Amino acid sequence: MTVHEPRIAIVGAGPAGIYAADILLGLAPTASIDLFEKLPAPYGLVRYGVAPDHPRIRKITDALHDVLVNPRIRLRCNVEIGVDITIDELRAAYDGVIVATGADLDVSLDIPGIDLPGSFGAADFVAWYDGHPDVSRTWPLAAESVAVLGAGNVALDVTRILAKHASQLTHTDTPDAVLDQLAASPLRDVHLFARRGPADVRFSALELRELAEQDDVDVIVDPDELALDEHAERMIAQFSQRRIIVRTLTEWAALDPASRTASRRIHLHLRQRPVRLLGTDRVTGIEMERTASDELGRMVGTGELLRYDVGAVYRAVGYRSTPVPGMPFDADLGVVPHAEGRVLDAAGAPIPRLYATGWIKRGPVGLIGSTKSDAAQTVRHLVDDLEAVEGAGSDADPSARLAHEIDLDGWLRIDAAERGAGAARGRERTKIVERGEMLEHAKQEQMTEAGR
Ligand SMILES: Cc1cc2nc3c(=O)[nH]c(=O)nc-3n(C[C@H](O)[C@H](O)[C@H](O)COP(=O)(O)OP(=O)(O)OC[C@H]3O[C@@H](n4cnc5c(N)ncnc54)[C@H](O)[C@@H]3O)c2cc1C
Repeated sequence: MTVHEPRIAIVGAGPAGIYAADILLGLAPTASIDLFEKLPAPYGLVRYGVAPDHPRIRKITDALHDVLVNPRIRLRCNVEIGVDITIDELRAAYDGVIVATGADLDVSLDIPGIDLPGSFGAADFVAWYDGHPDVSRTWPLAAESVAVLGAGNVALDVTRILAKHASQLTHTDTPDAVLDQLAASPLRDVHLFARRGPADVRFSALELRELAEQDDVDVIVDPDELALDEHAERMIAQFSQRRIIVRTLTEWAALDPASRTASRRIHLHLRQRPVRLLGTDRVTGIEMERTASDELGRMVGTGELLRYDVGAVYRAVGYRSTPVPGMPFDADLGVVPHAEGRVLDAAGAPIPRLYATGWIKRGPVGLIGSTKSDAAQTVRHLVDDLEAVEGAGSDADPSARLAHEIDLDGWLRIDAAERGAGAARGRERTKIVERGEMLEHAKQEQMTEAGR
């Protein structure tokens, strides 16, 4: 049967969910969409993951906003699927449900000492400095020397924000409480450790260079750690990005140590992997082991151990998704089991009307742009399947407005309040972080109208 005016639910108003909505409106011109988001604000990790000193990337929210204002989309923030409304209720009431809930947790690292106070996950730290409403408003920044573990762009973000002087962030949307705490940080040294060699790190070349583009911060690289083995030579011959990265690291390693006089230093260590965190009641150091690549390019331990005195360790070794209650989840892979976006049951058969896109579909890798092509694949299948969809309908009516729900106008009022607070200080916006305060702003106009 053909559904002429399909009603689609999308869960998660991050880039994946919003791009899926945009593509769907193009492919199914009569469709209407309810876009659910558990936070009071849309945009997912573009708002709560991307670093505040990357305003150009944050600007992607302007394009996402243009999609949200389409009258065929109903934004429904502050509604958590699996808590306020179940997946089954959505499947019963809508012609298709696309889950785009992303990833918000840190992958764990199974080494002794990892649970000591002073050991942190990057996802938590990022959520704090980006003003996520559901995390603590204070962050312990007492250490003069810290370690960051990871060889990807999140490790670079964490290293940069730790090392950056707070005065360099005042023009951004960073919440005042975050700026105040960063300004009081006694930090002098950040040790960034990558398990891999110079030709195998996952940093993007541009973001790596940014480390050295900060005021009063030196980047220090040990030339001995840059030696290129046969595998590394092959990699840089094949991939230009890797060539650029090795060139950048080599330039830094060649700098005269006497010229390194900044008050903060980033020590970039290659070919070292963490063995254990040291300390009894809190982190006081980290033990690392030197690694080397075997003939297949795999990293293996050499047995050579090194110790660093650090008062905190941040692991940036990957994100993982939170399963959505009522939705299949592959705990090993950390994704929803699917065939090109069609969610599969335990027997491997597609579950009618249930789809996935974004990081919950393909895992926490890839830039914002890649969520678009990914969404296109999922939406194409949904639209193909609409032909066969039986008319939806159930007793439960998830389309009825919930009392605590924030609609597009509510979000725009929060947005306006943030812009107003920013303008007063000469910035584009200052983020509002307290959930209660966000809800107050969202409700403001409704209350004024009710009082008239
Ligand atoms: C620290 C960090 C920095 C990054 N920096 C960059 C960068 O500079 N440039 C770049 O291109 N990419 C960057 N990325 C990658 C980019 O953020 C991702 O590619 C993209 O956000 C993935 O989109 P998504 O929509 O799948 O997930 P998300 O962005 O995580 O969005 C998922 C949304 O679903 C909501 N949600 C979750 N569960 C529920 C539920 N049960 N009910 C309702 N809503 C729910 C969440 O609140 C969230 O809003 C970065 C990622 C991280 C982690």
